[in-house]
Amino acid sequence: MIRTYKVMLLPNNKQKTKLFQCVGVARWAYNFALAQQQENHKQGGKFLSDGELRKRFTQLKQTEAYSWLNNYSNNITKQAIKDACQAYKNFFAGRAKFPKFKTKKRTRPSFYQDTSKMKITDTHVKLEKLTTSKKKNKQKFNWIRLAERGRIPHGAHVRYVNPRVVFDGMNWFLTVGVEEAEIKHETYSEGIGIDLGIKSLATVSNGMTFQNINQTPEVKKLEKTMKRMQRQLSRKYEKNKTKTEGGEFRYRKTENIRKLEFLVLKKRRRLKNIQLNYTHQITATLVKTKPAYVVIEDLNTSGMLKNRKLSKAIQEQTFHEFKRQMTYKCAWRAIQLIVADRFYPSSKRCSRCGHVKDHLSLSERTYRCEMCGLEMDRDFNASINLKNYAK
Ligand SMILES: [Zn+2]
Repeated sequence: MIRTYKVMLLPNNKQKTKLFQCVGVARWAYNFALAQQQENHKQGGKFLSDGELRKRFTQLKQTEAYSWLNNYSNNITKQAIKDACQAYKNFFAGRAKFPKFKTKKRTRPSFYQDTSKMKITDTHVKLEKLTTSKKKNKQKFNWIRLAERGRIPHGAHVRYVNPRVVFDGMNWFLTVGVEEAEIKHETYSEGIGIDLGIKSLATVSNGMTFQNINQTPEVKKLEKTMKRMQRQLSRKYEKNKTKTEGGEFRYRKTENIRKLEFLVLKKRRRLKNIQLNYTHQITATLVKTKPAYVVIEDLNTSGMLKNRKLSKAIQEQTFHEFKRQMTYKCAWRAIQLIVADRFYPSSKRCSRCGHVKDHLSLSERTYRCEMCGLEMDRDFNASINLKNYAK
């Protein structure tokens, strides 16, 4: 199975410049391939293979006007052309929308690295052809420092899959897949059910509960600051708008707006990182208890999403992230993950006698069974029901 690693890069200024150029070349090659396909289609031609497109690209590189393309690794452009062909194929197979040209504004900056050319050590990654110089003292330039030491496995036995260098608006990252074997446990504890909620993010049938990070003062404060900055931003945009002759408004990006937008981005990243980090901690703790199986509810139906008090998008995102992490972490350890049917009444059912209530309002925090008299925390009751769902 393939495990994906994402590690921040610490390029120096010169390397940063070069990375942006690599992104530009990848974008250029992608757009080239797309334009060729479209032109060919207009002429009534069939799909052009990426081999054919690469041939045309190589011819282009040999002309004076495009000789600058030779300053970059040809694996970057090769993959960009492949990606464009794939996007085109996906469209014709009905899997995706018609591919758009990549622009500086709209597209997330990224480019591909060849697996055999890339080298990884504990502290550095060697990218291909950041410098075109063959001189020994210049070769250092190809090596970019990694922010986390020894995070990505390396050595002769390690096989890398689809390495990409990406920029997220603030930092550069290396993402790379590594083929790894599943971890098989000798002993398992019994299965667990996990109820996701607003009050506690996760209530587990084994008695563990995890508080909702979105409810902590730190996160609430961050959200508030972000909202304030956003209002500030829209005020600034409003102030600087001008009316064109056609009577439409034009919004201008001033230097101040640019700065403020960057600050908002920084806050948003911070919030996202806090949430991600926290979810990783919980999911890691849970799989380490080595449960025989894990049951979670169908996120489409979890009643918590109907709560209007909390910023809904953020909560939904946390749930989905939780499920995503749980899914792949269970897969690594060969733990079966079961998603309960959306009609399974995990909240309304009594975990002792199986009686199902007609109605249970969100405000009722304690589950009281009118048949057997069970009284239990609502979420805990739900988590036990989810655990029993597997039987
Ligand atoms: Zn009961």
